[in-house]
Amino acid sequence: MEGANGSYRAHALILPFPSQGHINPMLQFAKRLVSKGVKATLVNTIFISNSMHAFPSSFINVETISDGFDDRGFSQAKNCEDYLTTFQAVGSQTLSHLIKKLKDSGNSISTLIYDSLMPWALDVAKQFGVLGVVFFTQSCAVNNIYYHLHKGLLRLPLLGPSVSIPGLPLLQVMETPTFVYDSEFFSDFYHASINQFSNIDDVDWVLCVIFYEMEKEVVDRMGKLWKMGTIGPTLPSVYLDKRLEDDKDYGINLFKPNTSACMSWLKDKPRGSVVYVSFGSLAEIKVEQMEEVAWSLKGSNCHFLWVVRAKEEAKLPIMFKEDVSEKGLVVTWCNQLEVLSHESIGCFVTHCGFNSLIEALSLGVPMVAIPHWSDQTTNAKFVEDIWRMGIRPKPDEKGIVRREEIELCIKEVMEGEKGKEIKKNSDKWKKLAREAIDEGGSSDKNIDEFVTKLVSTQSV
Ligand code: UDP
Repeated sequence: MEGANGSYRAHALILPFPSQGHINPMLQFAKRLVSKGVKATLVNTIFISNSMHAFPSSFINVETISDGFDDRGFSQAKNCEDYLTTFQAVGSQTLSHLIKKLKDSGNSISTLIYDSLMPWALDVAKQFGVLGVVFFTQSCAVNNIYYHLHKGLLRLPLLGPSVSIPGLPLLQVMETPTFVYDSEFFSDFYHASINQFSNIDDVDWVLCVIFYEMEKEVVDRMGKLWKMGTIGPTLPSVYLDKRLEDDKDYGINLFKPNTSACMSWLKDKPRGSVVYVSFGSLAEIKVEQMEEVAWSLKGSNCHFLWVVRAKEEAKLPIMFKEDVSEKGLVVTWCNQLEVLSHESIGCFVTHCGFNSLIEALSLGVPMVAIPHWSDQTTNAKFVEDIWRMGIRPKPDEKGIVRREEIELCIKEVMEGEKGKEIKKNSDKWKKLAREAIDEGGSSDKNIDEFVTKLVSTQSV
């Protein structure tokens, strides 16, 4: 095939859900496809395109569609349901226009790879007769829970104290996603999560962001249901196999990072001495919880680097930044990969967003897991009990994790006996992550198989 960018073997249109944690892994997957001779076009919403701080990569083409909320994105919608239904209506139309436009300009596509939160995109793929490929950015354990609920194989409310689901370890009710155990409160989010599976039996290929070794049993089970491939970890190549030229960062930042301030602050800190703290791009932490985290960091007496997004800053205790300035640095956003891979980092206090978790696992950084919502409660269980890369401080009866608990866990991870074991496991996972994506590794093979399928598919 010949296109504007020279010759290529197939053309993939890639449609992530418009949030940082969904764009990053799908953009990285696009880069992997490009490295294998596939042309990749990333589709952003108009709002994301206007608010991002950098252009992803000269190897990736970028196009836009509308979610119906061009000015302010999700925050412009009345609620989650309003956002998703509007996105479905406006997105389907504008996506169809885009595919036609590409075709008319000699850039026909062979596949539409879409985020699992937008199952309607499969209808658009079918309408054009191209391969419809769903991309899951959460763990297969979490996908498996939603799948069981969708099929009615698991019913709500969950009757505790523990829940047994085929392919998964026994889970306490509170270790299932918050959208499941608190499904009435989160009813919009619950329905969106279940809806990911509404047409899964009609998709041509299922791609998962993990690598096989992370969740062998559940991957084997799900692999019997659909044509499925694990393709992770999806970190920039410089942090893994180094096979992709110039692939040093994700490339799309929805917040402006304070990179130089962070890196020069970390520079002279002793090896393994710094606690890095971040609750990701979306979490709105309760004021009481923020205070407990703040005082635990001060109490730990460790150096710490804490990302508090501009919108959350007012929740910090008065004069906190000034008070701790000898030990701690608080920034509104950082280049998390550069920070996590810095030798001074000894532990990551994380909300267990799935990207953060895979990043920590791939870079071998031990964790203190303080899940906030969604899949993070299940992810935290896996961090502690399955991957054995961290510990979970226990919340009190109000759901707040108290400073003493956090402080104890930080100390245990940084200097305790359990910490030594965790460090050993972290080194093991770091090695496995690299092997999976390296040439001939489980994910690399899956990507090759997928590319072979694309090449043999007619583009439209
Ligand atoms: N991230 C970053 N800088 C920060 C905090 C987070 O670059 O200061 C990135 C992080 O590397 C990850 C993403 O933002 O890739 C957050 O995704 P995750 O799934 O961890 O959490 P979410 O934001 O979706 O809750």
